[in-house]
Amino acid sequence: LMQMFRPLDMLGTVYRTIRQGLIDMEAMFKLIDTETEVKDKAGARPLSVVAGEVRFENVVFGYDPERTILKGVSFTVPAGHTLAIVGHSGAGKSTIARLLYRFYDIQGGRILIDGQDISDVQQASLRANIGIVPQDMVLFNDTIGYNIGYGREGASQAEIEAAAKGAAIDSFIAAQHLGYETRVGERGLKLSGGEKQRVAIARTLVKDPPILILDEATSALDSRTEAAIQGVLNNIAARRTTLIVAHRLSTIVHAEKIIVMEDGRVVEQGTHAELLALGEHYAQMWARQQAERMNPEASEPGDEPP
Ligand code: ATP
Repeated sequence: LMQMFRPLDMLGTVYRTIRQGLIDMEAMFKLIDTETEVKDKAGARPLSVVAGEVRFENVVFGYDPERTILKGVSFTVPAGHTLAIVGHSGAGKSTIARLLYRFYDIQGGRILIDGQDISDVQQASLRANIGIVPQDMVLFNDTIGYNIGYGREGASQAEIEAAAKGAAIDSFIAAQHLGYETRVGERGLKLSGGEKQRVAIARTLVKDPPILILDEATSALDSRTEAAIQGVLNNIAARRTTLIVAHRLSTIVHAEKIIVMEDGRVVEQGTHAELLALGEHYAQMWARQQAERMNPEASEPGDEPP
């Protein structure tokens, strides 16, 4: 009977945590698998990821027909590279991530993985190849081991422990009375934002997908936690094609490519140095964030960094 309650609990949690950001879509999809607008085409084949190149070609999309959100977005992320997406709030950054996971179908253009249009492949195979580390991790009211192993059906205890180590949450778990059997979630041990993010990273390591979406938390963690998580994220991004929805530019200065979104369009793309040299949108955002870092008191309350 508890098995039945688990998804219901989970739905409650999902609804409570739904925000405009990229929420824990992966977990949500497994539960609300039935009535999505997105359907497999007749005869759809499984996605075959050989290298992991991600390509957006002139993608046009709106949640409502009256309002176009992405107005012809194009970029390519070579296999194994990292692309950071930056821009002001509402520019369409998370929308790009949602579309890669095929949360919605697009109205124009194409999204390709290794040359295969994602609308032509089986959704299950698409989602099996993409890992998401969301801003808000939704924990099941279950053990911490279950929450990590959820990344892939049939994950062994050894794999779960290796993933916990990779996400630097192993010593935290070892310090708990019941170790991996410790219950977490609303009715168990409450984890901090940083700990939850590490569980999300561990879950992704268990899944071991070739393509990764990282949704950087808007709310800053304390700087030590942030630095530790950043290190772990850099490690897991290293061998995979990675899209980072970034809010703090300081975390993505080493990305191989940065695209700057404004009102549903890519207005600049290049490396950190190239974009600074352009002296326009990115350079202005950078200057503003540097100033805020020096003098955090000066920023308006509720004025989110881009
Ligand atoms: P932030 O930095 O604040 O997370 P973002 O750049 O990621 O912003 P998106 O979440 O991609 O922005 O949103 C782009 C636009 O699409 C916004 O104007 C938003 O209001 C709209 N939007 C987002 N989600 C939906 C939705 N489910 N239905 C309708 N409109 C939406």
